[in-house]
Amino acid sequence: MANQDFPLIFERSKEGRTSYSLPDLDVEEFDLDAELDDEYIRKTAPDLPEVSELDIMRHYTGLSNRNYGVDSGFYPLGSCTMKYNPKINEDVARLEGFSHIHPYQDPKTVQGAMEMLYDLQTSLKEITGMYEVSLQSAAGAQGEWTALMMIRAYHEANGDFERTKVIVPDSAHGTNPASAAVAGFEAVTVKSNEQGLVDLDDLKRVVGKDTAALMLTNPNTLGLFEREILEMADIVHSAGGKLYYDGANLNAIMGYTRPGDMGFDAVHLNLHKTFTGPHGGGGPGSGPVGVSKELEPFLPKPVIAKKDNEFVFETDRPHSIGRIKPYYGNFGINLRAYTYIRTMGAEGLKKVSEYAVLNANYMMRKLEKEFELPYPQHCKHEFVLSGSRQKKLGVRTLDIAKRLLDFNYHPPTIYFPLNVEEGLMIEPTETESKETLDGFIETMLEIAEEVKNNPEIVQEAPHHTIVKRMDETTAARKPVLRYYK
Ligand SMILES: *Cc1c(COP(=O)(O)O)cnc(C)c1O
Repeated sequence: MANQDFPLIFERSKEGRTSYSLPDLDVEEFDLDAELDDEYIRKTAPDLPEVSELDIMRHYTGLSNRNYGVDSGFYPLGSCTMKYNPKINEDVARLEGFSHIHPYQDPKTVQGAMEMLYDLQTSLKEITGMYEVSLQSAAGAQGEWTALMMIRAYHEANGDFERTKVIVPDSAHGTNPASAAVAGFEAVTVKSNEQGLVDLDDLKRVVGKDTAALMLTNPNTLGLFEREILEMADIVHSAGGKLYYDGANLNAIMGYTRPGDMGFDAVHLNLHKTFTGPHGGGGPGSGPVGVSKELEPFLPKPVIAKKDNEFVFETDRPHSIGRIKPYYGNFGINLRAYTYIRTMGAEGLKKVSEYAVLNANYMMRKLEKEFELPYPQHCKHEFVLSGSRQKKLGVRTLDIAKRLLDFNYHPPTIYFPLNVEEGLMIEPTETESKETLDGFIETMLEIAEEVKNNPEIVQEAPHHTIVKRMDETTAARKPVLRYYK
């Protein structure tokens, strides 16, 4: 890993160099060795780098420059909504009244923070059309699981213990069947039709007395709107099942339609996607859950409520599925989402949907000239291309993704959803300019030309990154996380 241009902190080390200076000791030195059993005492000093403050600064700044984020360039990672995270969110999150409070404080002393959470719940109810919202879950997947546990509790409260199955479309996000399994259900697949939408005949076939719920995202992971959603809701409800909406990506519909109006009984949102919480690298996130009136008694507790002009944590909720996260959710991410919603306003959020959909369609129509577009109808916030034409010439979608790194782009999501061969799932988001979109389109078309004329350059990419193509399986299975001199 040693690198002339970027020596790691261990290579910068010089014996005796420090990044601090302390005044001379004017009390008696504490004799740790005398206090501890011999077995706990180190025989050799830890091998830590000895560096100046400036060296530390350069080390970490250097590392951060090697990272790639939305603030450094275009990041069209489909289904992840890598949009710009407005910096006003950070200003608000750092206000002392928010950042210096403690979760064990008496609610009476933090009414402003409670009001913020309450108002955020109210906004999310309005945006989703649901009866009540809980801000507790810390990720989309946890939101899915929370809602499924509530649906299970609802069926059981009705004496209905036979509903063991959750129906999931074949295009679903991988978390959907996983959450169903973790919540103790069996995940059953419903097929997509040739338009990439849920096949209603297949839905009728799999739905039955054992159906606990149908999990759906609309628009689906192909970026296509499920037009027959009301009919689907009818099929599932008539069989006694519930409808669950995976609202991780609300970017296409905000201000235009709402899961509540489509007949859904429960929904989760990813505040770290649509509502500009910074994300990547595993967190922190926030995955609030919205539910219908029927499911409301089962919400995780405590619930933040308003009683006689005071904001309180309601804990007396006998049907609650219980607490699903310590404290009251990821407060900082909820606060950023609240700031975003207040900054944008209702009209602003509607514009987000318009631009997100416009940008995706613009890009899709430009790219379909060179890349296979398996589902050619207009898309919503994202679209999925297939690298099947390029594959015939010996270049895989993985190669194309790696080649994009040479042009300093983060690649799209690849090989997902699973029902598209060599899939490239592209989500430009609303925050990118036309120039940025055009730049990416041009690069993609250039790579398509390379595939025809000079495939090796794509097959062997990346050429200009710090590390070349990695053995991803070994990197995942046997990661080397320690520095060895
Ligand atoms: C991102 C995403 C999820 C999972 O959200 P996490 O916060 O990563 O757990 C679920 N469904 C869809 C459609 C997503 O895009």
